[in-house]
Amino acid sequence: MTDLYEKLKHIRADNPLCNYTKSRCARLEPLVEEINRLKAKKNALILSHSYVHPDIIYGVADHVGDSYALAKKAKETRAEMILFSAVRFMAETAKILNPEKIVIDPNPNGGCSLADSIDTEKVFELRKRYPKHTFVCYINTTAAVKAACDVCVTSSNVYQIIENIPNDKILFLPDKLMGENILNHLKSKQIEKELILYDGTCYVHEEFSTDQIDLLKKQHPKLKVLAHPECTQEVIQSSDLTGSTNQILSYVKSHKDQTDPFLILTECGITSRLQVEHPELKFVGGCMMCKYMKSNSLDNILQAMRSPKKEQIVTIDPTIQKKALSCINKMFELNY
Ligand code: SF4
Repeated sequence: MTDLYEKLKHIRADNPLCNYTKSRCARLEPLVEEINRLKAKKNALILSHSYVHPDIIYGVADHVGDSYALAKKAKETRAEMILFSAVRFMAETAKILNPEKIVIDPNPNGGCSLADSIDTEKVFELRKRYPKHTFVCYINTTAAVKAACDVCVTSSNVYQIIENIPNDKILFLPDKLMGENILNHLKSKQIEKELILYDGTCYVHEEFSTDQIDLLKKQHPKLKVLAHPECTQEVIQSSDLTGSTNQILSYVKSHKDQTDPFLILTECGITSRLQVEHPELKFVGGCMMCKYMKSNSLDNILQAMRSPKKEQIVTIDPTIQKKALSCINKMFELNY
């Protein structure tokens, strides 16, 4: 049977989209082969976020990771074309870092409830109200919003960068829940900074609850709970680890001998990746999917590789690109 089936057969989730049968993999295999052929021909690089479908991750992606890791890969690559299988703000980030390269977004309508919660008009209004604050934006923002802010952060470096910013007045946007977790982190380290928060949330992560954790802990008292910082503070406080998707993957990999199950509180693409890479481990809990990430497909990647539509070619106004780049570069500078 196909290589794809051998890779994906261990994925188990209570969602038919996550289950890979032999016949489904056999249908996908020709798409995988054609995308890989075109990728070599066009000197292209495919970057995929861990939340997209596993057939993309294990079939055609060159690098898979979180927004921070992928932003670094986009910066390092010598490929002539970057195809970014994720959501729009991530493809924009690749373009900000590589204005001279062709960046293709096969899923141009891939929004994000965080990135869509704020625009530049709102940032400028806040700038007027808080002129002394350093404006910190989460990477889940549009290029224009990044251009209107001072420093960008990702879920892997947010706590570190907030600590390192040489200003005790900070406005953090758009994720309110992550902001509350930053406040708790600063408190735990006895760092005094004023943090003004915006009101956005990730519609996937805000759904996780402590009820779910408590229920599963009754069944599995030694359950390890790993949560993303976009979850509520109550969930974070009931978890064993808070981290970006890459940090969650690394934690599980370094606890491979554990016989008790893990509960992964982020989009279910991470659990799928762990089931593929560590079929010997146990995972419990349901499957929460991001409809934006899951609107990527091998079909739209192949179509975009062959002949991208105008809206699939990422373009950014040069003034916005320069300002947004300085906001992202500040992140690399302050991440020590
Ligand atoms: S999971 Fe949440 S934060 Fe991530 S892309 Fe989807 S809506 Fe945005």
